[in-house]
Amino acid sequence: MKNLSMHVRVMLMTGAFLWTGATHAQKGKAPASDPVRTAVEDAYNKYKDLKEGKNADYIPALAEVPSTLFGVSLVTVDGRTYDQGDVRSMVSIQSISKVFTLARNVEDWGAQAIQDKIGVDATGEVFNSITAIERMRGKEINPLVNPGAIASSSMVKGTTYEEKWNAILAVHSDMAGRQLTVNQPVYESEAATNQRNQAIAHLLFAYERMYWDPVKSTDVYTKQCAINVNARDLATMAATLANGGVNPVTGKRVVSPETVQYVLAVMATAGLYDDSGIWLYNTGLPGKSGVGGGLIAVCPGKFGIAVVAPPLDAAGNSVKGQRVIYDVVKALQANPYLVQPKLSAPAKR
Ligand code: GLU
Repeated sequence: MKNLSMHVRVMLMTGAFLWTGATHAQKGKAPASDPVRTAVEDAYNKYKDLKEGKNADYIPALAEVPSTLFGVSLVTVDGRTYDQGDVRSMVSIQSISKVFTLARNVEDWGAQAIQDKIGVDATGEVFNSITAIERMRGKEINPLVNPGAIASSSMVKGTTYEEKWNAILAVHSDMAGRQLTVNQPVYESEAATNQRNQAIAHLLFAYERMYWDPVKSTDVYTKQCAINVNARDLATMAATLANGGVNPVTGKRVVSPETVQYVLAVMATAGLYDDSGIWLYNTGLPGKSGVGGGLIAVCPGKFGIAVVAPPLDAAGNSVKGQRVIYDVVKALQANPYLVQPKLSAPAKR
């Protein structure tokens, strides 16, 4: 590990980080041995037998997803993909979808509209808190917790259910680089048990902070949470954010770099529920987790990484997901707050 660290350090100092040097011919294929591959493999192997955590079960269908499912994928901004474990099995995206619906809205309505109509500050309360809405009279609820996210889904451009839903599914699919679909059993399971989210939507409606019919908004939000993804999809979606809104695998421009900067800021402050501060402290990266067991992190200008591993900790974040990403970030010295001092002599005053 020490040697790897040294290797990465030399690359950083010489500006020769692998993901900045890929040629088009190498797209999608990683060389047999490189520090990124080693970091992903090491982290996967270290945690593959870890048994901590428990699947979410407040949405009945989530309890049935195999707890052993474990996949890690890292996609660089030049389209290289590093996969480890099961990167093909699907889970529902859940809360991670909030990021991409937010991106759609920032792109369509501008950053100021989101700040004014939803809010962008962390609430400091659990993701489905009703007291946070009551305390703030519907204001200052950020789009990555349920109240702000349902309001965000209600804001999506379009006047009909179909128009809004198509816009939501399209932004997710473009970020992933393939047509995504809905996990129908998860959607139905949550739609039958989402009375709390319905209450949240109605309370926001009473405060005039819901921008479409509250019942339909909750339903479209519930459906967006049931979009099926695997670790590779999530890593590609994260890599699209890392690459200023252009999907590095398909080359499609999904949203602007300006939109991405605002989305990443909200992820940094509120991406991992009540443990968002602990996460940022340990990685320096904007991230987002979902109760389906997915976790993404974005290293701006370098890569997106995703883990799918359903057992969650008490805060609702994937246990293996957090450990893997902590380790990969450390091994690659990918925390953007880690700055190598300039070695040149200070300028004469
Ligand atoms: N659909 C879930 C809910 O609204 C998403 C929660 C999450 O992943 O944090 O409860």
